[in-house]
Amino acid sequence: MKLARIPWQGHKAIPVQAAWATFLILLASGQTNAAGQDDIMSTDERIAGLLDSMTVAEKAGQMSQVNGAGGTIPDNLRASIKAGQIGSVLNEVKVETVNELQRIALQESRLGIPLLIGRDVIHGFRTVLPIPLAQAASWNPELVRKGARMAALEAAASGVNWTFAPMIDISRDPRWGRIAESLGEDPYLASVLGVAMLEGFQGGDLAAHGSIAACAKHFAGYGASESGRDYNTTNIPENELRNVYLRPFEAAVDAGVATLMASFSELNGVPASGNQFLMKQVLRDEWGFTGFVVSDWASIEQLQVHGFTANDKESAYAALSAGVNMEMASGTYASYLAELLAEGRISMAQIDDLVAAILRVKLELGLFEHPFTDPSTFPPTANEGNLALAKQAALQSIVLLENKHKVLPLAKTSIRSLAVIGPMADDAYEQLGTWIYDGDASISQTPLNAIRQFAGNDVSINYVRAMETTRSRSSEGFDAAVEAARAADAVIVFLGEESILSGEAHSRADIGLPGNQAELVDALHAAGKPVIAVILAGRPLTLHNIIDKVDAILFAWHPGTMGGPAIADILFGVESPSGKLPVTFPKMVGQVPIYYAHKNTGKPPTPETYVAIDDIPVRLPQTSSGFVSNHLDAGYEPQYPFGYGLSYAAFAYSGIEISRDQVPMGETLSVSAAVKNVGAVEAEEVVQLYVRDLVGNVTRPVRELKGFQRVRLLPGESRKTVFVLGPADLAFYGQDMRLITEPGAFQVWIGGSSKAELQAEFTVIDH
Ligand code: BGC
Repeated sequence: MKLARIPWQGHKAIPVQAAWATFLILLASGQTNAAGQDDIMSTDERIAGLLDSMTVAEKAGQMSQVNGAGGTIPDNLRASIKAGQIGSVLNEVKVETVNELQRIALQESRLGIPLLIGRDVIHGFRTVLPIPLAQAASWNPELVRKGARMAALEAAASGVNWTFAPMIDISRDPRWGRIAESLGEDPYLASVLGVAMLEGFQGGDLAAHGSIAACAKHFAGYGASESGRDYNTTNIPENELRNVYLRPFEAAVDAGVATLMASFSELNGVPASGNQFLMKQVLRDEWGFTGFVVSDWASIEQLQVHGFTANDKESAYAALSAGVNMEMASGTYASYLAELLAEGRISMAQIDDLVAAILRVKLELGLFEHPFTDPSTFPPTANEGNLALAKQAALQSIVLLENKHKVLPLAKTSIRSLAVIGPMADDAYEQLGTWIYDGDASISQTPLNAIRQFAGNDVSINYVRAMETTRSRSSEGFDAAVEAARAADAVIVFLGEESILSGEAHSRADIGLPGNQAELVDALHAAGKPVIAVILAGRPLTLHNIIDKVDAILFAWHPGTMGGPAIADILFGVESPSGKLPVTFPKMVGQVPIYYAHKNTGKPPTPETYVAIDDIPVRLPQTSSGFVSNHLDAGYEPQYPFGYGLSYAAFAYSGIEISRDQVPMGETLSVSAAVKNVGAVEAEEVVQLYVRDLVGNVTRPVRELKGFQRVRLLPGESRKTVFVLGPADLAFYGQDMRLITEPGAFQVWIGGSSKAELQAEFTVIDH
């Protein structure tokens, strides 16, 4: 029996006979094949069988994702699922409701196809990990992988089988609120950590208990939104797109990411959701992606708003033609797919390809066999292990930016009293950051609580919030704060941004500390005691107006549930800080974009050529003041470079060695150096390797990260770190947009930041 021969006239019109229903269920579960034989079917056969049996409306249904109703199932949702009009529901996390949705799909819809249940599990679920940008500061793929695994298990216990993460948009603009969700500015770091994250979500096997499908987003170029305004225009030349923005996506596809999400933004004039170059040429034809693409929230409908299509029908046509398999939130596929097919503008083969990819992910997830979720088969959420992992992630993500006169760590023996000040010291919610729909602020451990616990009875703690929020313009609380500061041996002031100041649609034009926070620091500084600033924020901030007024700065990002204990451990020296910046911190917002892997230009600045604005003599002839590329008022260096981060130890690098000076094309070389802990405490260091290709048919950045390793060293201990550089590490997309390695000279550095000084050279030679 061939399903295609059954004369369907629309699933609603034909009563499902019992035998036929049984057959379809067997087909869906893979226990029979399209020919009716009782053997085990391959995934391809099951997909083909299902496609054969589906009406056009059911196909459009699989391609449609709708929002859940928050723990309830309204009649229209129930009816639509029953009618096979929905392939996926997002934002439903009440497990009983999810199970009922799946039951309706399986038992009451004609074909019994289970639902994808999508949710933004971005940095944890109940247990909130540090924001992704903070996790990137750990430079620890293993930790990122474990964090994603933990989040997957917590989410899967609620019936979620698909997360919209990792977000791997290269982010070089701290004004952009979504930088918080990203893995930073560098294609290599974002690729390594993005792959680790998606592997954590997906596990080795999508069908395994607790694995959920990942979604690499937002394809592509979203991070380059003009001026950091969210959803804005991006113009990225193809060569830069390929060498920078697409790299993490290519890595994610190579690593087997199940799905991708189209970006809201337009790229070079063509909105991503209708962008055939991105979705067809690059993703499918060049990279061979076999998973599926989901639109962003109503981004297909918005093609019209962009001015790319005239109406919803044309939007559906553009997105279908580009190869967007599933429509999130809007309903243009549901409304127009059949019409477009009937008009011959799209073919059944096109639709089948798009639907097949969705069915494949459902089959790979094992949803047909295991559609229901039994929470008792999962570990409890926010269990001890998860909290320990969240603390570990926070510990490794905190970056020590300043530590004058080694004011940190605080010695319990010499500090008898502490003033703990500021709006972020004891705010269980605000330390969690953006995208915490499922986060539980009631289990957050705040810095104040952790400091109190740590200090016990030995150190008296005087807490003054001083400002209601980070945006407060009132200085009413300052007097009490200053009084507390005067009475204390040291002041710890918790500053930053509340959660809502970063994330989607929360961009800022001024990235300084909001409200009266700088004035609070002024007042505390005047009290004359050592001031330690701990900053909790969702983006790099400009800190020039506080740097001279404080003795130490710990940048803790939004550190999540266990931020407090992690911060306390670092303040008191239980652990040395080891986070390194995954993104450049500018001195002034006007320097943006500023990133380490910039081009050299024809007139690069040097310390000798830079003349600060105040040093320029009046009426100096135009020709005599260094014609170089910089800002008169900001210079050319950032405040803190990519890869930077201090430690309580100190690390000395020496003895860089390369395995050979001449590297035949296509072969590898190894580069090594010794790193020694010359400090007094055990600590971790992230050893970084950068290269520069001195001549390229497309100019190459002055440095590019090509390797990193986290090492833990005892005082006095030295370790030889070895990196292997292969052809792929030296390759770039040339003028003809092909990936090439060119013969010629390369420089290589090993060190503790993108300013690493230990350098060697090698040459790639033709055979
Ligand atoms: C965001 C996506 C997110 C989606 C679903 C959109 O507004 O851009 O990143 O996954 O909503 O919540």
